[in-house]
Amino acid sequence: MKPKDGYSAEELLNSTQGLSYNDFIILPGYIDFNPDDVDLETQFTRNLKLKRPLVSSPMDTVTESKMAISLALLGGIGIIHYNNTIEEQVAQVRKVKRFENGFITDPVVLSPEHTIAHIDEIKEKFGFSGIPITVDGNLGSKLVGIVTNRDIDFETDRSKKLKDVMTTDLVTAKVGITLAQANELLKKSKKGKLPIVDDEGKLVALMSRNDLVTNREYPFASKDTNKQLMVGAAISTKDESKERLQELVKAGVNVVVIDAAQGNSIYQIEMIKYIKKKYPELDVIAGNVVTIEQCENLIKAGADALRIGMGPGSICTTQVTMAVGRAQSTAVYRCSKFAKQYNIPTIADGGIATIGHIAKALALGASTAMMGSMFAGTEEAPGEYFYENGVRLKRYRGMASLEAMEKGGSKRYFAEDSKILVAQGVSGAVVDKGSMFDYVPYLVQGLKHAFQDMGVRTIKELHEKLYKEELRFELRSLSAQIEGGVHTIYSYKEPKYL
Ligand code: GDP
Ligand code: GDP
Ligand code: 5GP
Repeated sequence: MKPKDGYSAEELLNSTQGLSYNDFIILPGYIDFNPDDVDLETQFTRNLKLKRPLVSSPMDTVTESKMAISLALLGGIGIIHYNNTIEEQVAQVRKVKRFENGFITDPVVLSPEHTIAHIDEIKEKFGFSGIPITVDGNLGSKLVGIVTNRDIDFETDRSKKLKDVMTTDLVTAKVGITLAQANELLKKSKKGKLPIVDDEGKLVALMSRNDLVTNREYPFASKDTNKQLMVGAAISTKDESKERLQELVKAGVNVVVIDAAQGNSIYQIEMIKYIKKKYPELDVIAGNVVTIEQCENLIKAGADALRIGMGPGSICTTQVTMAVGRAQSTAVYRCSKFAKQYNIPTIADGGIATIGHIAKALALGASTAMMGSMFAGTEEAPGEYFYENGVRLKRYRGMASLEAMEKGGSKRYFAEDSKILVAQGVSGAVVDKGSMFDYVPYLVQGLKHAFQDMGVRTIKELHEKLYKEELRFELRSLSAQIEGGVHTIYSYKEPKYL
């Protein structure tokens, strides 16, 4: 029998020394397929799947609706931060849920007596202007017309009543029509909207032609059964979160993340049990954890996924200040292997700076990777660009930086009630990454190449090889790490993305 080269993950990581992503390398496998044969579908939580293993962090410089919409369109998911009021967070979730639809079951409706100015307000608030008109302005009442942009864009008198501008000769569909049939009708009618009515002509729902176009352009989008984009939201373990949660659920949130730097607490266990009892349909991501004991407590409480990481974040000072945490590769491997016995997927959170780090996190058993700094410099992240020494930058800050905590972000660190706030993060800047719509496809293609080199086509196969010890690893000495980067040459230009 030929000897096995390299080491199993167990041999690599079962040591007194904690390892980071850069400390090891994965040995190549056998290639008999193309990168495009790689399928990156993954289990995000017990009940939710994603086409791409990418998640954006619940941080106020990373994930609001724009980030969540772009990442969901591209196959991942965004987690809306909670360093804001309940209303603000809920509005962000609503924006994502409204962005794309199959049947819009709660369309904004007006009456013939409303004016064009009312449509202007709706356009300003929600971004759309195709409004069905019912006798009394309510959904469920008789449909009498529709007003879209084309009916009003050249109208200078914005106080004009809608009854004077609406189109009344309508193409409609009967309730009970399937989504596919309705889509066919939308295509054939060449109209922008298709109102769905019952036998008495009362408005039940609306469809938009634009959604067909979006659907065609983003075939890997993460969507729920209503064809709405999936979105997550973070909450704390504090009592305030119960009210927050109720509103988030009403807004259609698909998953919640209980955000705590050290997840193994009575507060979190009680919160998980509360959520699982009150909202059994809602998946709960618990964390953060880095040890088996922590995982066990949260899984037993009912967690549907675990978020792994304590201290590896690029903006994080927890390990320095609190003396507690774990090296991220060791944490990801240990926790994922344990959670697998219960079929609970894990999220590798923090410390990811390159495509190779994402590939390594998945190879160590994580099902998805959560990123803060990598996404913070994109156009879709909150905040404006600014220049420093001629470099285009965006702000990025830890949620436990003094700056973020002053805005209300200390909920994650059980520090809210303290008079003196101790920072566990810093506030800084990251370079411009351009748009998520260019960046994420690059990451995905890079990952497919990484999978090809490892000789695996899917994340499932990767995990099988990991646990069968067919995936082989090796520790890298410091000089091996230097050798593995760019070296010796006089000058070079870094690629735009790594
Ligand atoms: P409009 O012509 O200005 O109404 O906008 P589009 O049809 O181009 O885009 C509207 C987008 O908003 C679609 O993706 C809809 O699914 C979505 N949407 C969500 N809720 C509503 C709603 O209540 N009314 C309308 N018109 N669109 C909605
Ligand atoms: P756009 O958003 O400006 O492209 O608007 P649409 O393509 O939706 O609308 C074009 C024209 O058709 C406008 O006069 C609308 O009022 C009208 N219209 C929109 N939806 C429907 C519909 O379902 N049936 C009918 N008959 N007319 C519609
Ligand atoms: P990054 O992708 O930038 O390396 O790390 C992002 C992760 O760092 C977040 O998902 C979160 O888990 C963690 N994080 C965010 N803010 C802070 C902070 O202020 N302190 C610490 N310790 N971790 C943070």
